[in-house]
Amino acid sequence: MKLKYLGTAAAEGYPAIFCQCENCKKALKEKGKNIRSRSQAIIDDRLLIDFPCDTYYHCLINGIDLCDIHHCLITHVHKDHLYPVEFLNLNGFSHPSPDYKLNLYGSEDVEKILADLPAGVYNHLNFVKINPFEPFKIEKYTVTALPAYHATDNPYIYSVSDGEKTLLYAHDTDIFPEKTWEYITDNKMHFDLVSMDCTEGAYEDLSYRGHMCLGRNITCRQRLADGKNIDENTKTVLNHFSHNGLYANYSDFAPIAAENGFETSFDGMEITI
Ligand SMILES: [Zn+2]
Ligand SMILES: [Zn+2]
Ligand SMILES: [Zn+2]
Repeated sequence: MKLKYLGTAAAEGYPAIFCQCENCKKALKEKGKNIRSRSQAIIDDRLLIDFPCDTYYHCLINGIDLCDIHHCLITHVHKDHLYPVEFLNLNGFSHPSPDYKLNLYGSEDVEKILADLPAGVYNHLNFVKINPFEPFKIEKYTVTALPAYHATDNPYIYSVSDGEKTLLYAHDTDIFPEKTWEYITDNKMHFDLVSMDCTEGAYEDLSYRGHMCLGRNITCRQRLADGKNIDENTKTVLNHFSHNGLYANYSDFAPIAAENGFETSFDGMEITI
């Protein structure tokens, strides 16, 4: 199974729009992996995760034809993960094949947002409401939504398994809520790849709950290891970076992450498990 990161930034992008903070100025100057668009990923070139405003740009630079994509998991309704305005193009302005459908999977929060779209978009859009802790199938994949610890009503992280390997896409979230830990433990879940929220960079801890930083990533990884939910072969990748984080530029953060046993995402990064 292959996970490709199409975008790896938090809501404002990196460098952030309208920002002249030191991290942004440095990222703009150094370019390369320091430039991050809004978070989105794709599994095996066919299963999308999230639909941010940078989706169009991701398709252009990665050669993705959205008409070949039929499934998209939505983690939560923040605009850097779900940008419904783009679906208005399905209301007669764009011309997919008549039988084209994009299935969007998400919580009731997503359903509420999509309810504002005009009826015409549903010729090509299909919403599938997902309940947490109820595994479901998308083609060969078994997907399980687990509650995230984040600032929306019903945010999810996703476990995706192809029958051989399993990944956990944990964005956006703090160290997981207890009910999620219980499910992971009770079901003896084992992950070959964990993509973990690191919005705030190298901080040891934060003054708020809802995202993670390196210190919380270490705590979260330890709990997964203690529960035997990961092992020494599991890849742990930190992702979803904000310019407001500490040492958050790729060039500053990647060596710090590596010292602590983590890989650092960048736009276009591919991980095969
Ligand atoms: Zn986000
Ligand atoms: Zn900035
Ligand atoms: Zn969010």
